Parts: sequence; C-alpha cells; structure tokens
Amino acid sequence: MLLRSVLLGTLIMTSLAVDASTPPVKTFGLGDVELLDSPFKQAMERNAEYLLSLDADRLLHNTRKYAGLKPKGELYGGWESQGIAGHTLGHYLTALSQQYASTHDRRFKQRLDYLISEMAEAQRAYGDGYVGALPELELSTMRGFRQGKVEIKDAFTFKDGAWVPWYTQHKVLAGLRDAWTLGESAQAKDVTLKLANWADDITAGLTPEQQQTMLQVEHGGMREVLFDLYGLTKDERYLKTAQRFEHRAILDPLLAGRDELPGKHANTQIPKVIGAARGYEVANQSEGRPIAENFWKTVVHNHSWAIGGNSDGEFFFSPNTASEHLSAATAETCNTYNMLRLTERLFGWQPQVEYADFEERALYNHILASQEPKQGMFTYFMSLKPGHFKTYSTPHDSFWCCVGSGMENHTKYGAAIYFHTPDALYVNLFIPSVLRWQGRGLELRQNTRYPNENRTSLTVTKAPTTPLSLRVRVPAWASGNASLKLNGKPVAVDAKPGSYATLQRKWTQGDVLEMTLPTSVRTEPLHGSSDQFAFVYGPVVLAGDLGPAPAGSTVPYAKEQQANLKAESAEAPVLAGDPQQLAAGLRRLPGDTLAFQLTTSTPRQEVTLRPFHELDYQRYTVYWKTAPASAAE
Ligand SMILES: [Zn+2]
Repeated sequence: MLLRSVLLGTLIMTSLAVDASTPPVKTFGLGDVELLDSPFKQAMERNAEYLLSLDADRLLHNTRKYAGLKPKGELYGGWESQGIAGHTLGHYLTALSQQYASTHDRRFKQRLDYLISEMAEAQRAYGDGYVGALPELELSTMRGFRQGKVEIKDAFTFKDGAWVPWYTQHKVLAGLRDAWTLGESAQAKDVTLKLANWADDITAGLTPEQQQTMLQVEHGGMREVLFDLYGLTKDERYLKTAQRFEHRAILDPLLAGRDELPGKHANTQIPKVIGAARGYEVANQSEGRPIAENFWKTVVHNHSWAIGGNSDGEFFFSPNTASEHLSAATAETCNTYNMLRLTERLFGWQPQVEYADFEERALYNHILASQEPKQGMFTYFMSLKPGHFKTYSTPHDSFWCCVGSGMENHTKYGAAIYFHTPDALYVNLFIPSVLRWQGRGLELRQNTRYPNENRTSLTVTKAPTTPLSLRVRVPAWASGNASLKLNGKPVAVDAKPGSYATLQRKWTQGDVLEMTLPTSVRTEPLHGSSDQFAFVYGPVVLAGDLGPAPAGSTVPYAKEQQANLKAESAEAPVLAGDPQQLAAGLRRLPGDTLAFQLTTSTPRQEVTLRPFHELDYQRYTVYWKTAPASAAE
C-alpha cells in the first residue's frame, strides 16, 4: 500500500513542485476505490476469471527453457509461440498486481508470488541478470548490444530477424515493477532491479548513434519504466539508462509542435511520449511536458475516431483522409490503453475537463467495447468499416499485444474515477463506486445508472472533519448547464458544459449531492468528410445494429488478428437529410436500455441504434453516410 502511494502519488507531487503554477492533482490507489455493480464491474469480474484460468507454468515455459531449466507447462499458442513470446508474461504480472491492488483478493497475490519466485530462480540460472521469456534469437540480439552490434532491418525487426525484443522485455520489466509496487512483493523488487541493471549493462557501451539506430525498432515503454525505477530508487544508474531510450526523431517534431505522425506506427510512438512525460515528472526534464501536451492534442483532435481510438492498420494517417481509412483494421486497442495512461498523467498536471471527457469517451467506446461478454476475450482492431463486425481473441491461441494490454485494462477501472488535491475531490467519471479517502476521512458512495439515465448521486457516508471542495465534472458535450441538488434542494453553482461544478462546504454524514446532465443525441463528423458522421449520446457512441455477424470458424473468436479483415461487409444503409435534424428526430425506445430507432433512407428501413460497447456479435455501423434529401428520395 505504501509503495503504491509512492509510485502513483508522491512522484507526481514531487515532480509538480518544479512548476509552482500547477496544482498537484493525484489519483487514488486502486484499493481506495471499490466498484459497485455496473458494466465496468462486470467486465472486471469476467477478466478476473480469465486471469485465473491461465496457467502460470505455461506462461513461464520459455523463461525456464532458455534458462536451462525444465519447463513445467506446455508453451501457449499464437504470439506466445513466436518471436514476441513473453510479452504476455509481463502483462500478466501487471494485471495480477492491479487486480490484487483493486480487490485484495489473495488468489491473485498467490499467483503473483508463484510467478515471481519462478522468475527469481530463472534469473539465477540465466546468470547475467536477465529474466524474461524471449526466444533464443531475440535474446542473443539483445546480448549482442553489449558488443555494439546494432543492425536493423525495419521498424519492427533487427537485421537477424529478431522481433521487437525491447518491446517484449519492457512488458516484463513493467510487470515486475508492478509486482513490486502494487503486488507488495519484496522478491519482485530484487528481480526488477537486477533486470534493470542488465538493461544498463547491455546498452552502456552504445554510442549515441547506435542508441538512435536501436530505437528505430519498436521498444515499448522502456524509457518510462526506467524513469519509474529512478523515481522509486533515486539511483542515477536508471536515469542514465532511461536517457539511452530517448528517440529524438520522434520527440523533436513533437517538441516543435509539428504533426509528423501520418505514416508512423501509432502504438510504437505513444509509449515514447509517456516516457517523455515521466522524464518531466521524475527528472525535471522540462521538454517532456510540451512534448506530451502537443502529442495528446494532435492525436485526440486530429487522429482519433469517434470511439476514442486511432489508426488504420496500426498506422497514423493524414487526418483529412479519414474516409479512405474506414477499414476493418481501425483502432488498435493497445493504442487506447496507452492514450489513457498518457491522459491520466496530463490530468495530474492540469485538471482540465477535456482530459476527463476523452478518458470517458475512450473507456466506454473502446476499452469496454473491446471485451467479449461470454469469455472475456479481446479485440485487436476495432473495426469501423460500415457493416463489419468485431473479432475477438481465443483463450489460448492468440495472445496478441492487445490481449496483453487488454488483460490489464479491466483491472483498473477504479484509477480514473476520482482525483484529488489536498483540499478538493474531483469526480471525473460517473461509475457506481465507493471511494475511501483515508487521508481526509471521507467515504463517498456514487450511485448511478448513467448513461442510461442522465444523473448521478453522491452520498457522503463518512464526513471529513474540515471543509472540502467537491468538483463534479460537467462534460463539454452536455446540451446545457447541469443542475445540482444538495439533500433534495437546488443549489446555485456554476455548472456550464466543460467545467467543474464546485461545492465547498463542511460535509455531514448523509449529505447527498445529485447532478443531472442535459443530454441529447448529437452528431460528430468524420475528419475531413462532409457527408459522414457518427451519432453520440452523452459519453456513448451509438452504432446501428445491422444484424448478426456471419457464422464462421473465425467468428467471433479467431487465432489470427487479421482473420476477418477481408470478410465481406454488409451494405450499410444511407441516410437522407441534415445530420442534426436526423439526430433530433431519433426516437428513444421505451425500457431500461439505451436504444434509439432510426429510419434510414436507402433502403428505407428501421435500424436500432445502441451503445457501441453493447454490440458484440453483430454487424454494425458507427459512421453513416448522408445523401441530400432530394437525391435519396
Ligand atoms: Zn495491440
């Protein structure tokens, strides 16, 4: 618990001291926020079952094998049987650590402790500080750096064919860090630092030119995790090692405010920016802040789909060509996992509603939407091709990158609901939950059926002894000012869209603050397109349900992430008329669910619009085309 607050809290606090104008806004520890029943809690529970269903010995297969120890379990399939093998082990360590930190469920701690003891044994056997699950080729490429051997083939492979070894090894190092700081494993600290020392050893002799060459190959969040270790230990060795992962070709244009992202692999770049952000936080590297802020603005405003995700075929593209990129390979899920991690850092620097609005949008429409409800499986791409459908992983034979980051996603929904300064509580997300703020003696219960109903209710179940400011987010999309009631009586507070409705008082046990948000269906155009748009209600993107996805051996579960990219799409109906008038004319269907009836023009038919995250096994369309009313009639 102590270590968790060091990692998530104090470091942010310390770093912010360098900029006195910035309020130090902190998140809470995962264990301080308990989820109550909602789609988020259900997703978390489904994911927890999947985590427990995985076999630690199978994930450790390569770890033992290449350390010269006898494997205790069979190697898993998919990416676990390829050159990127081992990334899942790292994500699994993080997911178990976060699940344990969130719930205190001992089963996750036991699993974690077993993995760490096995990894410690393997680390002793490897003999040079290395531990992981890299296949022989990837590991020998890494060890070759010690002799200055850095030859690359392309953005994902070294000349000898080794596939993103730093990317994979970063997951292991980050997982070990989380087992140490969130999983309360003292043994993990030792294993983590020995592995970090190994990363230092093999890169210490590289010239600046060799470092930059090495960094042309995707290397995940190596810089970020090394800054984290510097923050935790204050050992300059990790600061020096972190600086070897500073990829100038990407950072320089961002620092200058130039958008050179089109044509670049999206998920390779986001972790570099998080690394720069951590450099700002823990090592006073001032350039990290403008780099992170420029990148965030560029990606969110110019490169993101309505669901909050970005990319086509994993790459950024020129924003005004979005209509040519509505493919089945849009919005890799890892990208949004990383954009949310970046967003939470930026909110800590400057608590703007815009950051929280993005967090909410991406959380509902990409992260929650990425989980399959029967087995808790994961999307890789989130297809936005009209008339297409979602493709999910298999439990044991996919292990894509997005399975790895995906198993982390659903263990930490408690991380971004509430934030605080010493004197203020920010309520950013309207997710049913209980917050226990021990430092202030506050316990707050949030009850809501949002977004199915447009209000939330906050009850003080334990009151702090001194006055506290409660700042409740009024999203920018609200169609009017929010209205607030305290203990049933209206309170006059400024509650404009895009602001925080703030109430400062001495709270009493039993106080109830309710907020109602004017919500209507609105439309959002596709970047650079005059005739394509999406319907959005409150935080949720509404997608048209176009009937069941086609039956087949790769639907809904596929071993290969590309399995259904070429599957034929259903024709998406065309609409006629002005988008805003169409939105205003939608009929909300009666009942508890959030659903609207839309009459399309060509062909004329009735289509049900539902929150995108509720469409699991259907063909759908998120973006609609309009034809001028006269032409379509
Ligand atoms: Zn991915």
